[in-house]
Amino acid sequence: MGSTLLRNAWVLTVDSGNAVYPAGWVAFADGRITGVGPMETCPAATDFDEVKELSGHVVMPGLVNAHTHSAMVLFRGRSEGQSLLTMEGWYNSIREPELSLVASDIGPAVALSCAEMVLTGTTTFCDQYFFAEEIAEAVKQAGLRAVIAYGIVQLGDKARGEEELALATNFLRQQRSADGRVIPWFGPHAPYVDNTEDLLLAEVAVANEYGVGLHLHMACGPEDNEETERRYGTTAAVALEKLGFFNGRIHAAHCLDLSPEDIAVFARAPHASISHNATAGLRSGREGICPVVDLKVAGVTVALGTDNVAANNGYDMINEMRVAGLVASHREGRAQPISSAELVRMATIEGAKALGLENEIGSLEIGKSADIIAIDISGAGYSETPDIETLLVYSGSGRDVRHVFVAGEQLVADRQLLRRPFSEIRAEYSNTYKDFWARVEAARKVA
Ligand SMILES: [Zn+2]
Repeated sequence: MGSTLLRNAWVLTVDSGNAVYPAGWVAFADGRITGVGPMETCPAATDFDEVKELSGHVVMPGLVNAHTHSAMVLFRGRSEGQSLLTMEGWYNSIREPELSLVASDIGPAVALSCAEMVLTGTTTFCDQYFFAEEIAEAVKQAGLRAVIAYGIVQLGDKARGEEELALATNFLRQQRSADGRVIPWFGPHAPYVDNTEDLLLAEVAVANEYGVGLHLHMACGPEDNEETERRYGTTAAVALEKLGFFNGRIHAAHCLDLSPEDIAVFARAPHASISHNATAGLRSGREGICPVVDLKVAGVTVALGTDNVAANNGYDMINEMRVAGLVASHREGRAQPISSAELVRMATIEGAKALGLENEIGSLEIGKSADIIAIDISGAGYSETPDIETLLVYSGSGRDVRHVFVAGEQLVADRQLLRRPFSEIRAEYSNTYKDFWARVEAARKVA
């Protein structure tokens, strides 16, 4: 793959000391970072196969989208006026048309989502859905890094639960890609509402055996806890801890209304994290807002996610940092209770921690995978500042991302995809979108 030097950029390392170099460099070879520092320490250009002059750019670790459902781009703009975090809104605008989805719809939809993500600086994402095999295949073709949680659906049927667990286990065995970019996980559909206690415990045992995690939705609104309050007199988080579920690596999305006891459950667990999906939460109209400040005080890993783009409606993680910052100020009633530097960490190294990848990605440090982005801050909307993270979070846009590398492979150069032209991906998606919604309409006529 050769060696590459990126130099004369603002470099945000997101290392443990949050080192920032207003004029800095990063070097990588064979997919791994080999050096990073201020320009005074920059090695000679002649030592490298490729050199990029990046003055007027921010160079930083690739962004981590800690929660989405990439196939659901097909539903973008189709659920307006509905709350996707209520059973009713989800059923009406997602579940009913979803019944017309077929496996061949998934590839073109995930390809478009991957293109949007990587073009706006996301190099790693966490997905949870059915059709996990098709998602994994599309991600491999796009070249991004992704945790893909196999959605385990039981529907009150013991035999079906066992069958699903066997299929999910097979997915763990088969899908770990040779280059390590696709990382299979489990995605229990909805604890207690769908997966039984026995099944959940079996999932944790298998996940621990394979060294993977479990990704699920939790505390999306009052109705989420109603079932466990009725059955056990406790919230879902407390009930799941008693069951032993938190002995696994647990990554929970949303968490809009956590009690102090719930926060303590996450803090006590060996590997528990939360994806705060600020935009999706606000658009849903639910009253709760993920208590990020309290979670951080308790030491819980909190990452950022877009959720599906019917709920958001885009994949721009710079926008997601901004909304998370704004909503935290509103919730806490004071200015910037989460600093811009902290928001950048949530979209990078904290996301990596949530997915168990903190030794591999999430910061620019020697030995880590070269998952690196360069953002052009020379254009309109940016100007001189002593605080580069605030410029990025509150003035920036994912649309200014110019170069993207995953494991040292350049996937975006000068805002263009290198593996496959965007126009081709978009054209194939448009055909799939039309076919899919024609099928939905036909099914509605029959019903
Ligand atoms: Zn979700």
